[in-house]
Amino acid sequence: MFAPQQETIREALFRASRFFESRGIRSAQFNAETLLQHVLHIDRTQMLVRFAEPFPPDRSNLFAELVQRRGEQVPLQHLTGVQEFYGRPYRVSEAVLIPRPETELLIERVLQEREAFAESPLIVDIGTGSGAIAVTLALEWPDARVIAVDISEAALAVARRNAADLGAERVEFLQGDLVAPILERGLRPDLIVSNPPYIPTTDCADLDVEVRDHEPRLALDGGEDGLNPYRAICRELPKLLPVSGPAFVAFEVGIHQDRMVEQMIRDSLSQCHTGIVPDWQGIGRVIWGKRGG
Ligand code: GLN
Repeated sequence: MFAPQQETIREALFRASRFFESRGIRSAQFNAETLLQHVLHIDRTQMLVRFAEPFPPDRSNLFAELVQRRGEQVPLQHLTGVQEFYGRPYRVSEAVLIPRPETELLIERVLQEREAFAESPLIVDIGTGSGAIAVTLALEWPDARVIAVDISEAALAVARRNAADLGAERVEFLQGDLVAPILERGLRPDLIVSNPPYIPTTDCADLDVEVRDHEPRLALDGGEDGLNPYRAICRELPKLLPVSGPAFVAFEVGIHQDRMVEQMIRDSLSQCHTGIVPDWQGIGRVIWGKRGG
C-alpha cells in the first residue's frame, strides 16, 4: 500500500520511486517524477526548486492513489491522461492504443512523399485510435486532406477531441471496419496508412500486463497470425487507390511480419516498388509500397 504521508516533495518522490522498484515497475524514478509533476501541475525544474517544501496536503491523497494504481501496473499514460507523439500531447484512455514511438517512423516515411504528391492528396488512416497518425499527418502536411477511420465510436471520440485540441479540425472521421467506409463512399485515397492490430491472438496472453489488461484488445489482436488486417486492406488496394498516377501505402507491422506484408503489397499493387524501414532494434517496422510519381 502507498499511503499518504506528511513529507517534503523530495521525500514523496523518493518514497514513490522505491515503491515502484519494489513492485518491479521499470523506470521507477521516471514514473514517480511524472506522477508527482502531474499531480502538482509543475514541470521538472519547479519540482527540483521546490524539493524541500512540504508536499501540498491537499494533493497527497491524489498522489498516493495514482502511485498505488501505477504500482498495480495501470499504464502511466492512463493516470496522466496523455502521451506525447511527434512532439504533441495526445489524450489517451482505455478506448485507444497508447501511441508508441515506433509509429513516428511511419509518420517520417509518409512525410517523405510530400513532393511526390503535389496537389492536395487524400490520405486515409485506417484504425486511427487516438488519432495520432491522422492528426500528425494533417498538421505536418497542410495541403493534404486527411480521413481517419475506426470501428470504435469510443476511439473516434478520443481522436476527434485530439484533432480539435491540436488544431487539426480538417481531419474527417468515419466509423467502420477497416476500409469499408472508404469503399462505401467510393473514395480513392492517394495514400493509405495504417497501424492496425497485429499481435497474433495466442500471443495476446503473453503481453505485458500493462498492455494486456489495460489497452483495447480490438487495437492489438490481429487474428490467428496477426496479419488479418493487412490481408483485408491489401485485398482492396486495387479498388481503393487511384486507377493511375502516384499511389502510396504504408503499414506499421509487428516482429517477423515485414516480409509477408511486403509480399501482400506486391501481390495487390501492380508495378509498385516496396521497402522496409527498420526500428532502433533492427525489427522491420514500417512497410511501404509506391506506384508511379
Ligand atoms: N506495438 C503494440 C505493442 O507493442 C501493438 C500495436 C498494434 O497491434 N498495432 O503492443
